[in-house]
Amino acid sequence: PANAIQPLRLLLIGCPGSGKGTQSSRLEKNFGVAHLSSGDLLRRNITEQTALGQQAQQYVADGKLVPDDLLVSLIDSELLNVGNANWLLDGFPRTISQAEALDATLNKLMQPLNLVINLQVPEDVILQRIMDRWIHIPSGRVYNLSYNPPRVPGLDDVTGEPLSKRPDDTPEVFKVRLDQHHAMATPLLDHYHDVVVNVKGNTSDEIYPQIESEIVNRLGVLPGSMPEAF
Ligand code: ATP
Ligand code: MG
Repeated sequence: PANAIQPLRLLLIGCPGSGKGTQSSRLEKNFGVAHLSSGDLLRRNITEQTALGQQAQQYVADGKLVPDDLLVSLIDSELLNVGNANWLLDGFPRTISQAEALDATLNKLMQPLNLVINLQVPEDVILQRIMDRWIHIPSGRVYNLSYNPPRVPGLDDVTGEPLSKRPDDTPEVFKVRLDQHHAMATPLLDHYHDVVVNVKGNTSDEIYPQIESEIVNRLGVLPGSMPEAF
């Protein structure tokens, strides 16, 4: 039946600072999706100075796209790791060539994407957010000094480890990332046009309920009700 429960195979698209990480944490908690964030994976690899991290770090520092082949193999292996679970992609794919590689992998796994969520946040609120943003690199948890501060200043709520500023969260690099996002968003949204939904707002609190109701209405899944695997 059309309203049968479907597994969650989600993609979040939105400009830098639009709240992809924040929405992902909520979806992870409420729907049990595995959160696969290309940016978080790259930052962890850079911190640990893995071979991938060393190849990627200059691109990330400059706000430029890391070459497709590095990203494609990174995400392929993450998708194999999560197996048949429900998952959410954040930050990948970012180019049509990445999207085509992903589609091929998902066809093989028989796990096609079934919802692409396009976060629309006005640009004037985003730069301030980026300036106020601190992250916990190992987990990717995001804090904002104005509206989502850590319980203890400078420390992650869960582990107590120190928070960092992202070196690419400067006004100059932010501008490069924003231009980069605008260049890729339209072709990518076209590529996935039959599964895209737009959600809009000034804050993550305004947007999250819209995402939840799209999941409920389109995929028949209620928060807290998700089976672990399909
Ligand atoms: P935010 O985390 O603020 O929502 P963002 O989209 O700018 O925004 P990340 O997704 O964390 O940030 O990506 C950080 C950097 O990692 C990018 O600027 C780019 O250098 C690299 N990167 C991440 N994903 C990809 C990708 N799919 N293809 C190429 N490079 C990527
Ligand atoms: Mg992010």
